Amino acid sequence: MPQNIPDIYDAIDQAVERYCLKTPAKPDIIAVSKYQGQDKILPLLKQGHRLFGENYVQEAAHKWPELKKAYPDIKLHLVGPLQSNKAKEAAMLFDVIETLDRLSLAQKLSQLPNCPECYIQINIGEEEQKSGIIITEADAFFDYCKTLNIRVTGVMGIPPEKSDPSPYFMLLSEIAKRWNVPHISMGMSADFQLAACLGATHVRIGTALFGKRQA
Ligand SMILES: *Cc1c(COP(=O)(O)O)cnc(C)c1O
Repeated sequence: MPQNIPDIYDAIDQAVERYCLKTPAKPDIIAVSKYQGQDKILPLLKQGHRLFGENYVQEAAHKWPELKKAYPDIKLHLVGPLQSNKAKEAAMLFDVIETLDRLSLAQKLSQLPNCPECYIQINIGEEEQKSGIIITEADAFFDYCKTLNIRVTGVMGIPPEKSDPSPYFMLLSEIAKRWNVPHISMGMSADFQLAACLGATHVRIGTALFGKRQA
C-alpha cells in the first residue's frame, strides 16, 4: 500500500488530532529512495516533492546529479553511515549529512571547504550494532563539533526495533532542545505519526511512499 505525500500528511494530521495535547510543527517528509529507481522517484518530483534521502554515497552519485540538473531545487539528505574516506564526495552530493556520529568524521568534514550542514546521529537506544554517538558522549561531541566550526543544525536517531519508540523520540527531542538546534529527524514508515506528535521536524519515509525496496 504505497502512499503519496498528501496521504502521509493526512496520516500525520489524524494522529495529531487524536493523540497530541498541543499541535506540533508539521514535519517535512524526507522521501528515502535507497534502492529505488528513477521510475519511482520521477513521479514524486513531478508532483512537486523536492526533499529526498539516500543511504549510500555511491548510489546517490549514480542517481542524483542528473536529476538535480533537471530539478535544481532538490534537497538531498544523507541518512546512512558515512565512511570518512567518502566524506569529500558526500559533501559535494548532499545538502545535509544527518549521520555525523564520531570524532574522526567530524575532523574530516571540518577540513573540507564545502562542509554541508550536519545533524548529529545519536544512538538513542544504546544498541551496540547501531551507529550514532553514545548518549553519555553526545554533549561533549556537540561542543567539539562547534569548535571545529561544523554547522550542526539538528539531531537524528533510530529507536530500537520491537519496542515502543516513544521514550526514544522524547529523548531525542530533549537533546535538541538542550542544544538549541532546530531540526529533529526521527520517525520512519512504521512510526512517523508518533514521531510527528513527539516533535519531529523531519520524518524519513521509504517503504510507505515507494513500496518495498528492490534489494
Ligand atoms: C531506509 C531508512 C529509512 C526509511 O525506512 P522505511 O522504513 O522504509 O520508511 C529511514 N531512515 C533511515 C536511516 C533508513 O536507513
